[in-house]
Amino acid sequence: MADTADLAAEREQLDTARAIEAARRRSPGAPVPCGQCYNCDEPLVEGLTFCDADCRDDWQLRKRMQEMA
Ligand SMILES: [Zn+2]
Repeated sequence: MADTADLAAEREQLDTARAIEAARRRSPGAPVPCGQCYNCDEPLVEGLTFCDADCRDDWQLRKRMQEMA
């Protein structure tokens, strides 16, 4: 049943790509990926700007506060 496993792996890759794409679209004004999290300086794989949604939210909140000040 190798076909089933291959299909599952393929679908998983598609889901990941779609999730990354969706995350990019959801955060307009996000900074350029620099290899580490903008919020906590955690090393990240290429193409990511934050380790997770919490870090992204924290960063966006802080940015908004700075813009208001
Ligand atoms: Zn982080």
